Amino acid sequence: MKYKIQNLAKLHEELFPELEVELRSAINSCSFIGGSEIELFEKEFSEKHHFKYTVACGNGTDAIYIAIRSLDLPSNSEILVPSLTWISSSEVITQAGHKPVFCDIQSDGFNISIESIKKNITPKTKAIVLVHLYGIPADLNEIVDICKSHDIKIIEDCAQAHFAKYDNEYVGTFGDVATFSFYPGKNLGAFGDAGCLSTNSTEIFNFSRMFARHGALIKHQHQIEGINSRLDTLQAIVLRAKLKKIDIWTNKRISVAKLYDEMITSPKIKKPNFENSKVSTWHQYTIRCKERDRLQKYLHEHGIETSINYPSPLPLLECYAHLNPKKEDYQHAIKATNELLCIPMCPTLNESDVSQISNVINTF
Ligand SMILES: *Cc1c(COP(=O)(O)O)cnc(C)c1O
Repeated sequence: MKYKIQNLAKLHEELFPELEVELRSAINSCSFIGGSEIELFEKEFSEKHHFKYTVACGNGTDAIYIAIRSLDLPSNSEILVPSLTWISSSEVITQAGHKPVFCDIQSDGFNISIESIKKNITPKTKAIVLVHLYGIPADLNEIVDICKSHDIKIIEDCAQAHFAKYDNEYVGTFGDVATFSFYPGKNLGAFGDAGCLSTNSTEIFNFSRMFARHGALIKHQHQIEGINSRLDTLQAIVLRAKLKKIDIWTNKRISVAKLYDEMITSPKIKKPNFENSKVSTWHQYTIRCKERDRLQKYLHEHGIETSINYPSPLPLLECYAHLNPKKEDYQHAIKATNELLCIPMCPTLNESDVSQISNVINTF
């Protein structure tokens, strides 16, 4: 493939040789778990967002699980979640002893629809896992209002939306707790699995920090049973180095998206929306096409890698058959999964790359 979905190797070039020195020094000192790098990363990540607290953990899935547990909801609560997202957003709801209630997505976008939220609220609805898919902020104003009036807690799943903005504020700062993934391919990615949750709530922070560390703030003094979900020291070093670059990289992604928006002119292609109140960080640039499978094959033949994130609405997967999902409840998600295609998106793409990719798309 001439154009990969993203080119991490090229992106990482600019981090060396500084990073190499720091990693080597940590390896030499055999400090692999805990230590000042973790605390510094938590502090820097909080400060950049204006969060009071960040708890680093093992991955973005754990972060959502810990966040749900921190809310101390009555068991078997219903938790709303969009039907188009990665399975982490819903599987941890079940694991925490609750019921995922899948909502359809916007007719004209990829995020959870307001209509479907309203339709699915019952007296048992206690929380929502609100995903900002592809880095595009969800409709936060309306959703926050609805949730406030129904006493529904908001977990913002920002795994794909680090430093995206809504009304000029970072996503993640609108709900009760925000979760992030630092999976290598995410906009801010480690060299392995990593994640965190951030909040302004002292209660959520105190619980999460303890729960993620076997329920003990001080070694051998376990106040509760917890889990083992830590950020490794080496990953913290990588993330601190990348955090210094994230604004530059995000701005490059935004420029690439704007170029695609100008250069893809085929009437067969529907491009993602740019909305004034939202700054997407374009984790993916996702187009739609009625002949998606044929387009994907055509692009692959022309050396352009693409991916389908995601090929099925979550409720229609085998693992949720027991919920007896009805297709008519997920019409927009089904349509999207048949039409969507993620095309190359990476801060390393330049204008000529985008032009060549767009030209191939236009000749389909
Ligand atoms: C990647 C991702 C996660 C999970 O993150 P991991 O670090 O892979 O566990 C959760 N939610 C969404 C929307 C994601 O894209």
